[in-house]
Amino acid sequence: MSYTALYRKFRPDAFSDVKGQDHIVTTLKNQLRANRIGHAYLFTGTRGTGKTTVAKIFAKTVNCEHPTEDGPCGECRICKAIAAGASMNVIEIDAASNNGVDNIREIIDEVSYSPAEGKYKVYIIDEVHMLSPGAFNALLKTLEEPPSYVIFILATTEVHKIPITILSRCQRYDFKRISIDIITDRMKELMDTEQVQVEDRALRYIAKVADGSMRDALSLLDQCIAFHLGKELTYDMTLDVLGAVDTEVFSRLLRFVMDRNVLGCIELLEEIVMQGRELVQFVTDFTWYLRNLMLVQTADNLEDVIDMSTDNLANLKEEASMLSMDQIIRYIHIFSELSGQIRYAAQKRILVEIALIKLCKPEMETDQEAVLDRIRQVEEKVENGIVVTAQMPAGTPGVQGGAPGGAARSKPELPKAIPEDVQEIVRKWPSIVGNAENPMKMYLKNARLSLGGDNKLMVVLEDGLASDYFKGEAHEQNKQQLESLLSDFSGKEIEVTIQTVESNRQFEDNYVDLGKVINMEIDEEE
Ligand SMILES: [Zn+2]
Repeated sequence: MSYTALYRKFRPDAFSDVKGQDHIVTTLKNQLRANRIGHAYLFTGTRGTGKTTVAKIFAKTVNCEHPTEDGPCGECRICKAIAAGASMNVIEIDAASNNGVDNIREIIDEVSYSPAEGKYKVYIIDEVHMLSPGAFNALLKTLEEPPSYVIFILATTEVHKIPITILSRCQRYDFKRISIDIITDRMKELMDTEQVQVEDRALRYIAKVADGSMRDALSLLDQCIAFHLGKELTYDMTLDVLGAVDTEVFSRLLRFVMDRNVLGCIELLEEIVMQGRELVQFVTDFTWYLRNLMLVQTADNLEDVIDMSTDNLANLKEEASMLSMDQIIRYIHIFSELSGQIRYAAQKRILVEIALIKLCKPEMETDQEAVLDRIRQVEEKVENGIVVTAQMPAGTPGVQGGAPGGAARSKPELPKAIPEDVQEIVRKWPSIVGNAENPMKMYLKNARLSLGGDNKLMVVLEDGLASDYFKGEAHEQNKQQLESLLSDFSGKEIEVTIQTVESNRQFEDNYVDLGKVINMEIDEEE
């Protein structure tokens, strides 16, 4: 069974089948009706928006023996000849491969002969911006004084490359990107004709990916149908074929970002990669997800603009309420920058990982949005009362009872009583560190614990990256993060001081090693 691509099979041959370019179609129809046809047209716009389709309908209509309001009759001798490619009245030239002076000279020579049948010779020059300067010059002479039976339709995706001398001699029509709704409706229409069962969500998704191009939409739809021939095409199948990621994954990812859970993000990315998802598409889709988040926060009743199921939309609204507009915009900036870099990058995954870390860690950036995000984090902590300001109760343990035997044994060796909370922290230190996120986890791996003044927990690190991470004004945030980690763990306020030593020797000479005094859980297990 031969399969004809949808785009070919359903190429419009009437004006009413051209979707999303009403402004152009109406003008051209009016010109045809009033018989005020121009001699040079320039059709511009991104790929797949209908430029050559409209050019062909127009070319047929001006030659048709019985044209209607809606275009050519399709039945007369000339219509049939054009459709079969046997007519000399419609000449299509691809300027991408015929861009020299000689190619244009050939056309100009032909132009001087009036058509043997029909009224007009229509030259459709596609990708006209590819012509060489010499070729443009040769064309210009003919455009200045074309014979009355000649029409030029120049089509281009890059109008800025067309010389002004050419532009000024053409009627210009800008083809717009076609909206998701229009593309979806058109596909639905075609699928009904083809009697293929398709979920609406699947079509909407394809329309979204096609980014305004009807041609792209139809060829994506072709791929999906071919993959699942004879079955109903579902949303999930579409995601599968197009290598896309389900919205639910974006929601999970965003929640990890909001929790500043780098490890969670990286693990989820691993999952996405293992599923064979296309990373470039993933980045585009996640950027789109963030854009939806922004829209939801801006206004209500956006269900029609945002292509999502009701459940996902409710989810999105919840997420939007947890983020500020500045944050969302920062996320979008990071991800749109990534979209620009990733397409041709060799190490795509690493670029995505960097972007995810940037999302989670505004402290890595210095621009205004990042700084605002950092301030927000601090404010949140203050509101939640996590930042330590109060002194710990001196000397005596806050809560009595249940003091483990190990701690009791160690007590006499200490110069000063250690609050129970600190003991507990020391005992559970290995698992606290184990649960921390990187890079903190990495930096704390070799930390030693001692007792700071006022019963603070002293975290002693060897001089270098680890101590830099926690010390100084610039890294106050990291220290606070550690403190809140400890507070979360113990349910008490734990204040930390960071101390740097040059070596283990120096540590042992100068500090009480709480790890030795209090049995850490690892020792207990031995
Ligand atoms: Zn006809």
